[in-house]
Amino acid sequence: MREPVTAYIGLGANLGEPAAALALAVHHVGSLPGSKVTAQSSFYLTAPINSVGPDYINAVIAVQTTLTAPALLVFLQGIEVAAGRQRPYRNAPRTLDLDILLYGHASLSSSTLSVPHPRMWQRSFVLLPLAEIAPALVSPTQLRTVMVQSITKLA
Ligand code: ADP
Ligand code: MG
Repeated sequence: MREPVTAYIGLGANLGEPAAALALAVHHVGSLPGSKVTAQSSFYLTAPINSVGPDYINAVIAVQTTLTAPALLVFLQGIEVAAGRQRPYRNAPRTLDLDILLYGHASLSSSTLSVPHPRMWQRSFVLLPLAEIAPALVSPTQLRTVMVQSITKLA
């Protein structure tokens, strides 16, 4: 049996019923083999960045898992597809997006998986929810660099 690793997953959606899709996705991630959700951020409302369509709802969760990072990605993509995810073009509006932000301390780079997620440090919709559940992982300087991006924490 592999040692469990704490992974952080970024969730986002701006089509359909985003809040319901995120809540269901958290449930599904917690039901994956060898996995449990150990922390969940608030939901955040954010304007699309490099994208179009309605505002996004975003959140970050911590998952303790014995799955490898590539296996976790495959399961996450299955959850996206079950939520009706289509990929008509890059950065298209989506019913559900699940990104692996961090996988323990691993640094991975393959054609299908880059961890830490290469763009996470430029996105307020990742850094604010991540800082909420794992403050030690995000520095004040990193938070300051994304402060101009509009984001609202939902009750
Ligand atoms: P976006 O970059 O907007 O999240 P997609 O969700 O369509 O776009 O993902 C595009 C590809 O990014 C996926 O097919 C996946 O193989 C790849 N990818 C690379 N690194 C990661 C990661 N850390 N988490 C999720 N997907 C990743
Ligand atoms: Mg994605």
